[in-house]
Amino acid sequence: MEQLAQTLRQHGLRATPAALAVLHALDQAAAPLAHDAIAARLATSSPVDRVTLYRILDRMTCASLIHRFQGPDRTWRFSSNAGGSTASMFACTRCHSVAPLPAAPALPKALAQVRDQLRQQGLTSLATEITVHGLCPRCQGCPKPAALKV
Ligand SMILES: [Zn+2]
Repeated sequence: MEQLAQTLRQHGLRATPAALAVLHALDQAAAPLAHDAIAARLATSSPVDRVTLYRILDRMTCASLIHRFQGPDRTWRFSSNAGGSTASMFACTRCHSVAPLPAAPALPKALAQVRDQLRQQGLTSLATEITVHGLCPRCQGCPKPAALKV
């Protein structure tokens, strides 16, 4: 927890018990989490009221401590930056589940080339998000929902 507290302070944020609990929950998560999922994870150990949770997530996002994604279901999800500066996920277009992308050793180098080219164009890159859209294994065998049939 002391390392998380130091990380919060390095990003100009206060290391309150609620902020520490939120950052810990995101660090432990295998995939980006929505507000409700974060609240559920904190419910037993360190409950945080809904407004406080929104404020903490906003501050952490503004400080570039966490990444914020909007999935195909229009729900915001959050992930820690612990794995690097690039936020990446797979999003199922049918059931809206999300999962982190597998580690790809060539990806950071490719993204560095893109950022270099952007810099040459006078553009400053602050964050990178990669979302691969597709069908999860569970949905690949499902018939289309009736509502989508034409
Ligand atoms: Zn799916």
